[in-house]
Amino acid sequence: MLGTNEEWYERAQRVVPGGVHSPVRAFRFVLRGEGAYVWDVEDRCYIDYVMSWGALILGHAHPAVVAAAQRAAARGSSYGMPTPGDVELAELIASAFPFVERVRFVNSGTEATMTAVRIARAVTGRPLVVKFDGCYHGHADSFLVQAGSGALTLGVPASPGVPEAIARMTVSLPYNDLVAAERLFHERGDEVAAVIVEPVAGNMGLVLPADGFLEGLRDLTRRSGSLLIFDEVITGFRVGWGGWSVQTGTEPDLITLGKVIGGGFPLAAYAGPARWMDRVAPVGPVYQAGTLAGNPVAVAAGYTTLLQLQSDPGAYDVLSRRTRALAEGLQEAFRAHGVPAAVVWTTGMLSVFFRPTAPRNMAEVQASDADAFRRFFHALLERGVHLPPSAFEAWFLSLAHDDTIVARTLEAVRAALPTVAGG
Ligand code: PMP
Repeated sequence: MLGTNEEWYERAQRVVPGGVHSPVRAFRFVLRGEGAYVWDVEDRCYIDYVMSWGALILGHAHPAVVAAAQRAAARGSSYGMPTPGDVELAELIASAFPFVERVRFVNSGTEATMTAVRIARAVTGRPLVVKFDGCYHGHADSFLVQAGSGALTLGVPASPGVPEAIARMTVSLPYNDLVAAERLFHERGDEVAAVIVEPVAGNMGLVLPADGFLEGLRDLTRRSGSLLIFDEVITGFRVGWGGWSVQTGTEPDLITLGKVIGGGFPLAAYAGPARWMDRVAPVGPVYQAGTLAGNPVAVAAGYTTLLQLQSDPGAYDVLSRRTRALAEGLQEAFRAHGVPAAVVWTTGMLSVFFRPTAPRNMAEVQASDADAFRRFFHALLERGVHLPPSAFEAWFLSLAHDDTIVARTLEAVRAALPTVAGG
């Protein structure tokens, strides 16, 4: 007997803070996944839109990824020495971004963004980091200032434990507000080491960049001699081959990657031209290291994932078409049931906001109906669809979310909406 979700939750709470190892996890203990589905300890099956928070673009337990990871693990799980595999994956990633000459692997997105900022501070000799309200760049101290994701869900965007002196070195501005950025640069441009931004914000729900916003940041940073960092931990190899920067042609100085490049294993990276990247040890004096960095099992899974995407020229078109079908189906269902909701999407990810129009920033995101989301989430869970358990997290699709699965999701939504509308 495996026990129920409730029993596992009780047991977990006795040994793990809140019963979870990362804040926005809840309700179901998972035993296995396959394709677009997960099964919980009660052997109930769900269509999954968490997809390891965007890491699993090929779906759960993709056979080629599993085989590659098994082969790698059988040869030894970690050496603390370089491997041909990590070079091949770095080459493949570099080939996807015209401005990238060097790639350094780390274990998490948090490490990637933390180091990118360290390089920017070293290069410029300046202290200030500019970020945007509702963007999430991992949990390093400098980023827990008006942060998104779990910090936003739990209402602790500025975490206790971050010394004020460190928080003061981060300025957080409203997303999509170029005028606020211009003002900041006008007043304090010579203090700014870096602007870090999610080119598509995915951690306050999905908020798209307004026309000219990213280009404006490119211009401001270039003029002031500070570095522009695109945090593509979510968007990298999800919105298209490479990432948003490649798809749209706006080139940052450094990018951070994670999620998809590890194929569901702990792997992330920061990358950019040699002139910035060669500041890092052992070539340069900026220190960054990791016992398990470039782990061969993670590298094998990531490389196989990227090769699958590269070898199928239609992959991103298919993903885009299915995301659009789901988004348009959702929008139509909300309209038919008289529920004021806006569905925002880009390839492989979408968000439902219970407010009449698509939000442009965190203040507008927060003016959504949180109770409607709660009712919607639970009504869909009952009907076998597992959404991210927060209104501030995007849904992620994989290539395993085929037309039938999209149609089944929409059926569940139509059945659930009377509960939501009637709430
Ligand atoms: N940047 C972005 C844009 C993210 O979405 C996340 C995690 N969701 C991170 C950084 C941090 O990555 P990790 O959780 O691997 O530390």
